Amino acid sequence: MHVIYGGTFDPIHHGHLRLALEIADALSVTKVHLVPCHIPPHRGSTGASSEQRLELIRMAIEDEPRLRVDDRELRRAGASYTADTLRQLRQELGPDEPLVMVVGTDAFAAFDRWREWADMPGLAHIVVVKRPGADLPVGSEAARLVRERRADGPEALSSAPCGAVLELDPPLLDISATGIRQRIADGRSPRYLTPDSVWQRIQALGLYGACPAGNF
Ligand code: ATP
Repeated sequence: MHVIYGGTFDPIHHGHLRLALEIADALSVTKVHLVPCHIPPHRGSTGASSEQRLELIRMAIEDEPRLRVDDRELRRAGASYTADTLRQLRQELGPDEPLVMVVGTDAFAAFDRWREWADMPGLAHIVVVKRPGADLPVGSEAARLVRERRADGPEALSSAPCGAVLELDPPLLDISATGIRQRIADGRSPRYLTPDSVWQRIQALGLYGACPAGNF
């Protein structure tokens, strides 16, 4: 089973990292692949560049063999669409290997605005992680998909290559990249919200308004 977990990771933090391991445990897989997405240029001025986000992810997962980074969306020119990524992976994995996409309810709520969203269940299973305060709107396409394609448990994902939706409710850390960027911009430390190596590198690069000479 091939499991991908996408996001902007601007920057990666312990909330992302814990979730990735919770998923590995819940699905009994030995690897979860983090897939950073391309950020449109108009967002770039406040965040980190693609290369910088990728570097921070690499540092964060360096000593964790269960976490991998897949930089295919950053290598593709222009905007990256999840459907293209799933299609590419499906080609690489062949028709029978289960492919799983992990997404939080905050992102999944607007699923029907993703490009070619209707094709996705034909390419992958979807694991929807419940995030506090981000319920799927009643009557939304996302809620309908969960209802109609609900998997009873993680085992169901191994028995087909795609098409099921599994809801998971693992323990989550209340951390957001927005909160980290805000703290740094305010001159406060985000220590313990993200690995020390990541925070050190953010400072060295002066990202998000960090002072390059700053301490923890
Ligand atoms: P931002 O604050 O910039 O929106 P974020 O911290 O929410 O960023 P993203 O990169 O947008 O992170 O999120 C990627 C994926 O990780 C999404 O599916 C999101 O639901 C999930 N996620 C983000 N933060 C957490 C967390 N603390 N615990 C579990 N999942 C999270």
